[in-house]
Amino acid sequence: MKQSQMLVPTLKEIPADAEIKSHQLLVRAGYIRQIASGIYSYLPLGRRVLKKVEDIVREEMDKAGAHEMLMSALQPAELWEESGRWHTYGSELMRLHDRHDREFALGATHEEVTTSLVRDAVKSYKRLPLMVYQIQNKFRDEKRPRFGLLRGREFLMKDAYSFNESAESLDQSYETMFKAYSNVFTRCGLDFRAVIADSGQMGGKDTHEFMVLSEVGEDVIAYSDTSDYAANIEMAPVAAEYQASGETPKELEKVETPDQKTMQEVADFLGHELSKGLKSIMFKVDEQYVMVVTRGDHEVNDVKLKNLYDARMVEMASEEDTRRLLGTGFGSLGPVNVPEEVEVVADYAVEKVANVSCGANESGYHFTNVNPGRDFKVKDYADLRFIEEGDPSPDGQGKIKFARGIEVGHVFKLGEFYAEKMGASFLDDQGKAKTMTMGSYGIGVSRTLAAIVEQYNDDRGITWPKNLAPYQVHLLSLNPKKEEQKELADDLYEQLQAAGIEVLYDDRKERAGVKFADSDLFGIPLRITVGKRAGENIVEVKARQTGEQDEVESASIIEYVKNWYK
Ligand code: ATP
Ligand code: MG
Repeated sequence: MKQSQMLVPTLKEIPADAEIKSHQLLVRAGYIRQIASGIYSYLPLGRRVLKKVEDIVREEMDKAGAHEMLMSALQPAELWEESGRWHTYGSELMRLHDRHDREFALGATHEEVTTSLVRDAVKSYKRLPLMVYQIQNKFRDEKRPRFGLLRGREFLMKDAYSFNESAESLDQSYETMFKAYSNVFTRCGLDFRAVIADSGQMGGKDTHEFMVLSEVGEDVIAYSDTSDYAANIEMAPVAAEYQASGETPKELEKVETPDQKTMQEVADFLGHELSKGLKSIMFKVDEQYVMVVTRGDHEVNDVKLKNLYDARMVEMASEEDTRRLLGTGFGSLGPVNVPEEVEVVADYAVEKVANVSCGANESGYHFTNVNPGRDFKVKDYADLRFIEEGDPSPDGQGKIKFARGIEVGHVFKLGEFYAEKMGASFLDDQGKAKTMTMGSYGIGVSRTLAAIVEQYNDDRGITWPKNLAPYQVHLLSLNPKKEEQKELADDLYEQLQAAGIEVLYDDRKERAGVKFADSDLFGIPLRITVGKRAGENIVEVKARQTGEQDEVESASIIEYVKNWYK
């Protein structure tokens, strides 16, 4: 392709709204342009890379035995009414009306559409298991679209669905997809982890998220420094064993702690370690008020609280409710003398402490020498805190470290949730009607593209892996006004194309400096420059990632490129 005839508007300046590298570089290098907040167009270079990521995904899905379809992006509200999600999905779902005032949504995901298709078409166990997928734009009215392609409102997703006759069959589909995902992200050259995730509201069981390790990631992952264990930090169980303090209980005292607000301030004021104070937080768990107590150096994990109560909803109690129940606001709470309507639950670590301090439920006062059991009752001890760096890994191997991650993929056992609501059943080999079991599997294709750029860049631009670059070769003619340079470059362009090598030819009448800068920005792995030595039929070759240079005879350039790409 000739660059002079291509839409690649490069920018020297970093766009004001672009906070992270992938966003900055993809805009500056002319790969994408924003149309509205969180909505982008892919220009020719961007489209080519997106297509390469898509093709990797497509190949791995096909290998996994899934069949590609293309479902409608426009979905009637009735389908979402059937699953109940028309009401529960919230304002992320883009809703609209047709001319007859019928309600529709732009597809944010396709469980409903797929389930309705399979429900109507598949009636026998003989057709199961079945896996389908599509690669299609999804629409979600995100609260905070940001970071370019990482969190868009219109974005490209691969979504796959499995329909199975049993839980065991679903396990197999899940496993197959899990492997396919590992292949996809490996082939994309990404440093990633499959992490155990929270199955949330959907009623599913197993779920893993595929996370690309990156400082700009929105999620924090807890992983083992020696095994492949990795989990979202909300999900990671704490496997620490606490030692009993061994101190003899002293007499409970109430002391004045004027103006001491934070845990650290109180600890400093009372002259003890942070871990010798108790942290008490009031929650409303469905309709029940619950005080959660942890050690002062630990953080309450509300996902674990929600699981402990098997609750629908967990939220912090309001300051008003707290005052009504305990007679004081947030700053001075503690588990001693709480009224019966408040349940006290505590983290396992609290069971082992002795002679600690806690709020006295009276502004400006704390208790010291508090001992659990003697001074307050705990309904349940449970794992209620966030895991921390240095904690033992839950799989018993090594210690926990933290890293930030970008979620590029998600595999999820849905179970019978949709099939039951939407009546997707089949006849088993005994002729008995059964509900199908489902899995759903998503990859953020456009987000993956951005994640690749996050991992492959330097201070001059993008540094694509060989298999993902928009072109294999960037051919530059430094001074096309010189006949011998133009002729040789034109000739090489023809030869490279004829040899099936993807080549972008910078034939523009621009200064050499501009051409080199753009070339570095684009990040095409191999650059061939036709310059001063064109008369001798010698060109310069440079590798974008390593900066390695070579002078090569133009007659052997095809062979050189083919070898380089082997
Ligand atoms: P997130 O927690 O980032 O909002 P999600 O849990 O809503 O993601 P899924 O519904 O599992 O995401 O969607 C499947 C995949 O689609 C995700 O793993 C992610 O890679 C991608 N994805 C989700 N939302 C967006 C978005 N707004 N922009 C780009 N990609 C997205
Ligand atoms: Mg989301």
